[in-house]
Amino acid sequence: MQINDESIGQAAQLLKNGEIAAIPTETVYGLAGNGLSADSVKKIFEAKGRPGDNPLILHISDIDQIFKYAQTVPDLALKLAEKFWPGSLTMIMPKKPIVPYETSGGLDTVAFRMPDNKYTLKLIKLCGFPLAAPSANLSGLPSPTCAEHVYNDMKGKIPLILDGGVCSCGLESTVITFTEKGVKILRPGGVTPEMLGEFCEVEIDKAVTEGLEDNDKALSPGMKYKHYSPKAQVYMIECEDRSIFAEYVNKSFDENTYVLADDTDNIKAKTLPYGSTATSEAAELFAGLRKADEMGAEKVYVMAPKKEGIGLAVYNRLIRAAAFKVIKL
Ligand code: AMP
Ligand code: MG
Repeated sequence: MQINDESIGQAAQLLKNGEIAAIPTETVYGLAGNGLSADSVKKIFEAKGRPGDNPLILHISDIDQIFKYAQTVPDLALKLAEKFWPGSLTMIMPKKPIVPYETSGGLDTVAFRMPDNKYTLKLIKLCGFPLAAPSANLSGLPSPTCAEHVYNDMKGKIPLILDGGVCSCGLESTVITFTEKGVKILRPGGVTPEMLGEFCEVEIDKAVTEGLEDNDKALSPGMKYKHYSPKAQVYMIECEDRSIFAEYVNKSFDENTYVLADDTDNIKAKTLPYGSTATSEAAELFAGLRKADEMGAEKVYVMAPKKEGIGLAVYNRLIRAAAFKVIKL
């Protein structure tokens, strides 16, 4: 259903009744429920098939709402909220008891974000409670960046999808936790390390670009699960420039190979739209992986982005989609 003043009224009613609904945000589509209700939150986990220890983000519409749900709020959090909200920055803080452990995945902390979509913000206001909303995909699949992706994963499982068009960012939010001198990025996203670096010291968690070893503890529980993976095997190709990438692909492809690449790439295999800047790669990555499956791809080749700016977020999702199968040329 198209998102507008009327449909958000219907969605608010559903959510107040403890139901769940898919909502657009600028990052990816979310599967929303009352973040203060263990019963609603359980429905989200069930519809997604999400492991219970993978925490949800509370979506709020006003900075002051943090004080209702967080035990302590660092000054830096307020400064970053002023600068980056509404937007794709998620901040983790100690939780108050009012936030159920079902929402926080059993942790004593909870994550907050103010999404950048005017109707979704209005919806949160209408509800009067924060919306817990993980990405609206089946657990493990690429996140949905348009309403059709949500429909493909969730049909028959949820009562309402609010259609707000294609997500502008296309990757999930940047998740940060607070350190003594600044912040640590647990999951990179549209708010980049460089942007945060203007305000404080920025550390990047090892799990952002590397796989976790069996005995490593996941600071961001989502990072330990198989993620963003289409049925096809994805190969991330790390090399210096696009001509080396094209040469490799042109030597190795077969009829069931697809390549995420823009058409200036000189590639002989079948391609799917990807763009040529890190920002457009971020916007196209999940749609491209889903499209590859629709086309019956067995192999998907994608060139690794530079690990800077939003490219770090693309790298983080891609290496997981590839189950860490990286070809270095
Ligand atoms: P999703 O909403 O599907 O993008 O998933 C949210 C992700 O945010 C989770 O997979 C976690 O990795 C991270 N996250 C949410 N809450 C916390 C928390 N309290 N501590 C650490 N990471 C969190
Ligand atoms: Mg997700």
